[in-house]
Amino acid sequence: MTIKAVLFDLDETILDRSRSLELFLTWEASEYLNLPYAECERYIERFLELDDNGMGSKTDIYSLLWKEFGLYEHTAEDLVANYYASFQRFVCEKRHVDQAISMLKSQGYTLGVVSNGPTPFQENNLQALGLTSFFETIVISAAVDCRKPDLEIFTLACDNIGVEPSACIFVGDNPEADIRGASAAGMFTVFVPTRRYQACSFANKVCRDMRDLPAVVLEANT
Ligand SMILES: [Mg+2]
Repeated sequence: MTIKAVLFDLDETILDRSRSLELFLTWEASEYLNLPYAECERYIERFLELDDNGMGSKTDIYSLLWKEFGLYEHTAEDLVANYYASFQRFVCEKRHVDQAISMLKSQGYTLGVVSNGPTPFQENNLQALGLTSFFETIVISAAVDCRKPDLEIFTLACDNIGVEPSACIFVGDNPEADIRGASAAGMFTVFVPTRRYQACSFANKVCRDMRDLPAVVLEANT
């Protein structure tokens, strides 16, 4: 089967979430909350602990932080709203992603994003990276009421672009949500190792450097 489309996960595949979050939290602690210098580091550490790589609910995180750090000049709801409104100002992409994406686009592949997360938060983050126009479909779990690794979210993305799953490559960093999910949907899978998920034995290919992705896609085609 000829590969016609390349679909991407967003967090830690396209978007450098760890770095973006670090930049956001530094601003939030020191400028938005105006915490004393010594408290900032503790605040950031505590946020990251509660966030658990994006697994923690922001409402729960901010109500705890609000109490623990006595942030009474704001309400916990304000803090959640500020997170969703301001995070996009700090987003940065994973190294060489723009290069890989523009090369694949110029080679004629249809590109898409399938992300677990809130909407319009994830769309805003992609927009802030300046990459939205490269993608023919952007499927965000909260908008479609199903999540990776559910089969439905992958087939929905395929339906949107009119490409069979067997003609799609899925690129992602999460072994369960991305690789197992896309694989069960019938896609060729490319695993992107990160600090959190360093290996995945059941991916079809591994891509450590995004500059290699066009070659990996080409190889999958032969
Ligand atoms: Mg991810």
